[in-house]
Amino acid sequence: MVVRKRFGQNFLIDEVVIEDIATAIAISDQDQVLEIGPGRGALTEVLYNSVAAKYRAVEIDRDLIEALSARFPHIDLVDGDILKLPIDELLCGSSWRIIGNLPYNISTPLLVRLFGFSEAICDMHFMLQKEVGQRLSASPGTKQWGRLSVLAQFHCNIEELFFVGPESFRPAPKVDSSFLRLVPRKDKPYLEDEKNLSLVLRHAFSGRRKRIRNSLKMLNISWQTLSLCPDKRADQLTVDDYVILANEIALRRED
Ligand code: SAM
Repeated sequence: MVVRKRFGQNFLIDEVVIEDIATAIAISDQDQVLEIGPGRGALTEVLYNSVAAKYRAVEIDRDLIEALSARFPHIDLVDGDILKLPIDELLCGSSWRIIGNLPYNISTPLLVRLFGFSEAICDMHFMLQKEVGQRLSASPGTKQWGRLSVLAQFHCNIEELFFVGPESFRPAPKVDSSFLRLVPRKDKPYLEDEKNLSLVLRHAFSGRRKRIRNSLKMLNISWQTLSLCPDKRADQLTVDDYVILANEIALRRED
C-alpha cells in the first residue's frame, strides 16, 4: 500500500473508533457534510451510509480520488488542496458540518482559515494531534494556553471528546490523537477587527510569562481606560481580555 507521508496519511483502521466518531457526529437527513481528506474512505463509509442530504469531500491525493469516486458515486468529490481551494465556494449556503481525520501538518493553518467562515458552519469534528487538541481546549493559566487557544475559543465552543492511540491508524503515527467538536459561537464578544486580535496575540505570546504591559509596549495601550491589570502575564488573560485589548487598539487607530 502506497502511503504519502507528505500528505500526512495515517489511515484509520480501528472499527470501534470509527463507530465512536459516527455516533459523536450523528448525521441527520438535513445535514450538509464536508469531509476533509477522505483518504481510503474509512470515515466516508460510515458517514455517507448514514443519511446526509449532501456530502462533499476534498482530497489532495489524485491516486485516491479514482477509487473514492467509484466507491461513493453520489459524493461531490473535489480534487484539490483544502488550504488553497476557495472555502466560500465549498461552503456555499450555510450550516455545513465539517469533519476530518486531519493530516497533522495542515491542521493549524486549516483551522485558522475555517474560523473565518464560522457563519457558514454548523459544527466541526476533527481528529487532531493530541497536543493541538489540548491547546485548542486549554484554559487560561495553563501551559497549553496560547495564541491558538484564544483565537479558537473566540470563534468556537470546543469539546475534547476522546483520545485515540497510535495503534488505531496505519501507519501508526508517533503521537497520540484526540477527537474534538468545535461549534461556532453565537455569543462572540464584539470585536472591531480581527487583525488587531492577531496583532495583540502575537506581541503578548512573544513572552508568555512577561508582564503584559511590557510585551504590549509597542502597541501603546492606554491602560488607565481599561479594567485590565497590566501586571498580568500573557498566559493569564482570558479571551474577553484579549478582545478588550484588540478593541482598544482599534479605537485609537480611529482617533
Ligand atoms: N479520512 C481518512 C482516514 O481517516 O483514514 C484519511 C485520513 S489521513 C490522516 C489525511 C487525508 O487527508 C489523506 O487522505 C490525505 O491525502 C488528505 N490530505 C492531506 N493534505 C490535504 C490537503 N491539503 N487537502 C485535502 N486533503 C488533504
